[in-house]
Amino acid sequence: MGAVTAGTRAVGLDIGGTKTHGVVLADDGSILAQVRKSTRPGADGVVDTAARVFAALGREVGGQGHLTGPVGVGVPGLVDVARGTLRHAVNLDVNGDDLPLRDLLAERLGVPVLLENDVNAATLAARALVDADDVVYLSVGTGLAAGLVLDGRLRRGEHGAAGEIGHLPVDPSGAVCGCGQVGCLETIASGRALAEAWPTPDGPPAADLFAAAAAGDVKAVAVRDRFCWGVANAVRALCLTIDPERIVLGGGVSEVGEPLHEQVVLQLRALGEGSAFLASLGLADRLSMVPLHYPVAAVGAALVAAG
Ligand SMILES: [Zn+2]
Repeated sequence: MGAVTAGTRAVGLDIGGTKTHGVVLADDGSILAQVRKSTRPGADGVVDTAARVFAALGREVGGQGHLTGPVGVGVPGLVDVARGTLRHAVNLDVNGDDLPLRDLLAERLGVPVLLENDVNAATLAARALVDADDVVYLSVGTGLAAGLVLDGRLRRGEHGAAGEIGHLPVDPSGAVCGCGQVGCLETIASGRALAEAWPTPDGPPAADLFAAAAAGDVKAVAVRDRFCWGVANAVRALCLTIDPERIVLGGGVSEVGEPLHEQVVLQLRALGEGSAFLASLGLADRLSMVPLHYPVAAVGAALVAAG
């Protein structure tokens, strides 16, 4: 571990609805330690889970006393970064009023805490992966959302809604979305939509779907193609709005890996077939994936802490 001193280690926690993932980063960005535990729901459960993951990280690096710096925490839902509060984190069973999660965590962990939306945190890590200043991170998880780094800075938006691409309607004859609109991208290109279109008794539907489609199952091919068309549509909308250098695909569904990348590239090329303008923008060439099993949101949370 060389020159890494106790105070310079950056700690990041990614608190998800199912799992909480913690990492300790070295100065060079490499992962010194990582821990994953099941998340207990509710405000008390979230704080308790974070404390257990933080303690386990401390043990991994030779004692909790080694982790004295700020901890970055990524959470799903609407985060007020300045006030350190969380709202509408339905996945964590935290509803309604602003929860002062930053201060609750700081008190429990005994170190300063910085709170950030999980997709925004992951975007910082995605930016570090591709080493660019204009980067879109497209998270295809249970829902569909993008994080934006523009000119090297995170763009959160006036209402924290920058990058809410999942609620862009694209199909007037599509399904009603949870947001109340019809035919949103999230009703086509999200883990939730995929689980409805391709239900599996157990195991991730995405892996099962892509395997069945690759084996030539006609229904699987149709479901896969509509899903990837939706992802490609999100990429197109983001590129036409922001024109980023790079677009990085992540989120739970991206664990399918290269087969997903290939199919989204095919859909992007198909979108460009009738349009010399769109084809000239080279959307497919800007697209890459988060490496398999890379804890992108936890690393991003650590980057939030590292400033
Ligand atoms: Zn919607």
